[in-house]
Amino acid sequence: MKIICIGLNYRKHASELGWPVPEEPVVFLKPDSSILKNNKPFFLPDFSADIHYEVEVVIKIGKLGKGISAKFAPRYFDEITLGIDITARDLQNQLKAAGMPWEISKCFDGAAPLGRFIPVTRIKNMADLDFRLEINDKVVQKGNTSDMIFGFNEIIEYVSKFFTLKTGDLIFTGTPPGVGQLHKNDNLVAYLGDEALLDFLIK
Ligand code: ZN
Repeated sequence: MKIICIGLNYRKHASELGWPVPEEPVVFLKPDSSILKNNKPFFLPDFSADIHYEVEVVIKIGKLGKGISAKFAPRYFDEITLGIDITARDLQNQLKAAGMPWEISKCFDGAAPLGRFIPVTRIKNMADLDFRLEINDKVVQKGNTSDMIFGFNEIIEYVSKFFTLKTGDLIFTGTPPGVGQLHKNDNLVAYLGDEALLDFLIK
């Protein structure tokens, strides 16, 4: 399986990092070895001094497809959760400045913690979903899917032009503003509406 990630999909996050608002989705991939499941702890790696959290809504592809139009996209995902796009911001900035691919800053082991999936049939309106990340009981990021630059269906239309989407593939759909550094012993809890789907520790 593959993990497709959309960068800079919330205007206020693009501006907090000093990036222009993209005209087309910014796409990158993470390998399956970056997945962290079942609320297992994340261990801060020694190759970075600035590991950041980015909470994101994640959808799971339920059906094989290629060249999917936005209109039919809802048929292609059936589960939803929250994930953290963990980023070594110092490495990303160095690579970005050098004009190099920044995969290693986002694709290392454990860089994709995933919450418990729930069926999309439980969601009333995908285009108006509140989510938030709390660290040590303090809200650090708050988002609503109505603020996405590219919605779920447009993302599926765009990425399926390039990649065949397979059952079980995941799409991280971008982070709202408020990203910041992780520290040892932080407890991260991510909520979709009022339901905690992810709860883990930094070690
Ligand atoms: Zn991200």
